[in-house]
Formats: sequence, structure tokens, C-alpha cells
Amino acid sequence: MLKGIGASQGYGIGKAVVIKNESLDYSSVKYSDAENEKKRLHDAVEKYCSQTQALAENLSKNAGEEEAEILKGHLVMLQDPFMLSQMEDNIDSGSVAEAGVATVCNMFIDMFSGVDDELTRQRASDVKDIRDCLLSILLGTETVDISAVAPESVLIAKDFTPSMTSQINKENVAAIITEVGGVTSHSAILARAMGIPAVLSVKGVTDSVSDGEMLIADGFKGKVITDPSEAELKKYRKKNDEYQKEKESLSEYFGKPTVTKSGVLKKVYGNIAKAEDAQNVVQNGGEGIGLFRTEFLFMDREHAPTEDEQFEAYSTVAKALDGKEVIIRTLDIGGDKAVEYLNIDKEENPFLGFRAIRYCLKNTELFKTQLRAILRAAQFGNIKIMLPLVTCVDEIKQAKVLIAECISELESEGKRYRDVPVGIMVETPSAAIISDLLAEEAAFFSIGTNDLTGYTMAVDRGNANVSNLYDPTQPAVLRAIEMTIKNAKKAGIQVGMCGEAAADERLIPQLVEWGLDEFSVSPSSILQTRKNICNCK
Ligand code: PEP
Ligand code: MG
Repeated sequence: MLKGIGASQGYGIGKAVVIKNESLDYSSVKYSDAENEKKRLHDAVEKYCSQTQALAENLSKNAGEEEAEILKGHLVMLQDPFMLSQMEDNIDSGSVAEAGVATVCNMFIDMFSGVDDELTRQRASDVKDIRDCLLSILLGTETVDISAVAPESVLIAKDFTPSMTSQINKENVAAIITEVGGVTSHSAILARAMGIPAVLSVKGVTDSVSDGEMLIADGFKGKVITDPSEAELKKYRKKNDEYQKEKESLSEYFGKPTVTKSGVLKKVYGNIAKAEDAQNVVQNGGEGIGLFRTEFLFMDREHAPTEDEQFEAYSTVAKALDGKEVIIRTLDIGGDKAVEYLNIDKEENPFLGFRAIRYCLKNTELFKTQLRAILRAAQFGNIKIMLPLVTCVDEIKQAKVLIAECISELESEGKRYRDVPVGIMVETPSAAIISDLLAEEAAFFSIGTNDLTGYTMAVDRGNANVSNLYDPTQPAVLRAIEMTIKNAKKAGIQVGMCGEAAADERLIPQLVEWGLDEFSVSPSSILQTRKNICNCK
């Protein structure tokens, strides 16, 4: 049995599909002869082109023409006779095909990255992609096609990037297992959003489990049973059936108001990471969206989404919610959320560094693009803006100045928009401590217990060695929560919670008693949370 952290509830029974990020080191590849090396090169290029062509077609159908155009650009670049002939010249002078590819691509990467113009610099990352794909084809280390795994697959990887998770077909994936991450890591958030059981932080699992091996993943207890006996399989199939029945029984809470036994009305909202998740919230009975983690729109791509792309995403969500509240959190990058093209320097302490609202207030062009998109989308629904990682009053004031600038720009351009309330996440101890002062500037609070727990307890939220201290029921965290709710009540503003603790049944009665108005949880936890609140006094 392997031990990890149960990060998304449920039982997954199936065959392992191990996704390894193999190294692209080709130093041990031996040179055969020029003819053979050139054949290897041409075969690899041909394979790359046909795969990329198919991917581009798929993207233009399912994602967007802009993404597909980037891939088509890769094809044009690689089909340029100059690039290929340079690779062949390298082979003629005694290099293996891999070295030919790497030398020529690296030359282009250096050339493009040194240029001042942003568009040309993006070419450098295009060539990096081409280089890595060609090398993995040549070395035979191509990654698994996640979108095409067989039914009842248990996906195993060191970690899942947003682009990996976006390829998951949840009908075929029984569970997810990773080597890193905790309950609030992004793999966990995405697994819960899709309702797939997940066990994270299982040390060495990509090496200790082989492809095709039968496994049971227990997302409640955080354990993985390898090579299970017939009796174990039978026991877990039964447990899974019971769990599925229990979930079905929650359907009586669908469409019902969230009212405590003493008649106090509460709201249960859903957290989303992509525009498409909005439907998931509606289908699971959410009364609104309490957290749209917009950084996912910025991750796993070569450049920031344009204002129109963002406008499209935010409008889609606003329309899907049909007048119900949609709280859009502005870009929360840095810390555990890396975005390569934003060129944030490597920091000693990224969690205490240049991230979230701090980054946005210093990169106003990027920030205003997002704010304009949100303001324009607000005409289609009940949108609110939420600022992440606020630590002082001035940050809210500065953000409001930028919002006012966006409004006057939209006015003078004659673009339609709607002004929206601006609230904040309370996810740092400083914000909780001065929540009385922040409440004078913020239209609402949403308590982010994922970070609040980490910063209050001084523990890294993804570090398994200190995970015993990463606990929102610790008195220090509870006092910060209580203080925030009380100060919001005094000021008469709405206070919600969008950290994972909002779905924690140990905490719900206490949160209800303190007067928390809104609980925003992953879509798969909405009905259970409503049931837990309805059972409170
Ligand atoms: C939080 O910190 O509680 C939160 C909801 O934000 P995230 O998990 O995206 O950091
Ligand atoms: Mg946070």
C-alpha cells in the first residue's frame, strides 16, 4: 500500500497509466551514419507535422482559432527549408539527429529571445516547443495522449499541469495520483472540480507503479492499494457503490434554498477555474460563483489572453449563471502558480514575493486589460471583482483608481460596460487583523482559508513534512476567521469563504454561528455543503 494525501473524495479502481516527464538528454545516443541520421530526422519531422496538424484541427474545432494558428505557425517554421537544411548540415559534420535539432533550434531561440519586440520573442518559445517535441519523438519518450486513455484508467504523474488536466476525459479516468501537491494544490482543485478521486503526494509513485498495473485509489483516506486481491477489489467496489448511492441521495437538496434549522438563509456557491466549469456549478445546484480563478486563463500558454478572449470567457460565465452572482478574482499568479511568459524573476521566497495584486499593481497594462474585459462582460450578468492577496488598504485604493481609469477609457471609446462592486480575498493574517479598516473600502470579503492557513501557521501549503500544521481548525486560523466575519458584519458587508474549509463539515456549524453568509466550494461538494448547512441550528 502507498500512502499519500486524499485530495478529492471517491474511490478509483482501474489500471495505471503512468505519465513520465522523460528527460530529453541525448548524450548517450550514438552516431550511425549521415544517411541514417537524416532518415531519423525526416521521420521525426514527418511525425511531428502530422501530429501537429491533427492537434491544430482539433483545437480549432474545440478551443479557438487563435490557439490553432499558433500550432500552424510551428508547422510553417519547421517546413522552412533553411531550418531543415541547417539540421542536415550538422548531421553531415558528425552530429546525431538529436544534436542537429537542438543546435539549430537553440540558435533560433537565442536569436529571437534577444529581440526587443514581444511578438518576435514569442517565436523563441515556439521554437522551444518544436525542439522539445522533435527530441521526444527522436528519443522515443513521447508522452501519453491523456485524452485517449482507455476507460477505468488511473492516471499517475509527478504533477498535472492545467493543460494536462484540460485533456482529461472524466468518463475514462477512475482516479488521479501524483507525487507532489496537497489538498489545496491546483491538481487537487481541478480533480475536485471534475469529481475525480485523487491521492496526491505519493512519494516515488511514478517509479514504483508500472503501466497497466491494477490499482485502488482511496481519495478519502489518501491511500493507493497496488496489486489488490479479489477480496480487496470486492470490498472497494461495494464501498464505491455505497458512496455513489449517497451522492445520488443528495439530489433532494438540488434547487432547494440553503436554510439553517433556525431559518437563517445562506448561499452555497461554486469555485471555477475555466469558463466551461460554470455549467458544472449550475448543474450541481450552485447559487452563484464565489471564486473564478482567472489565472488558469493565463497558464500553460505562450502569451497572455487578449482583452477580447477574456471578455469572451467572463461573458460566457455571466450568461451561464443567468443573473446569479459571479465573483471574478483578478489574476493571482506567482507563488505556486507559475506563468513563464510573465518573466517574474526567480525569488528566494515566492510565496512572500511579487505575486497576485502586488504584481498587477506594477504591471498595469496587463491588469487593466483584465479589468476592462471584466467591466465589459458585466453587462451580461451580476459580476463582482475580487482582489487576491490584499495586505493593506492602499492596495484596494490603487486598484480602484485603475478601475476608474478603465471606465473612463471605455466611456470615451463608446464601449458598453457596467460598473461593478470591488471586494477582496481575506487570505493573509494582515488582512484579517485589519479587516475593520479593509471593510471601509471593500464591497465584500471572501475568506481564502487555503492561503490564510498557510500564512497564519507559517507552513507551506504543499509541503508534506509540515502538513500536520496545515490545518484550518487550528485556533490561530479560527480566530482570524472569526475576526474577519465579525468585522464584515459590523460594516454591513457580505462575507463568504472560498477556501477549501468552506466545505469542511467540522467547521460549517461554527461558520454558520459566526454569521458567514456565503460558502463557495468545488462544484462536486455543493449539495453536501448545502445539506451540512441545512442541518445546522
Ligand atoms: C485561498 O487561498 O483560500 C484561495 C481560495 O485561493 P487559491 O487556493 O487559489 O490560492
Ligand atoms: Mg489564495
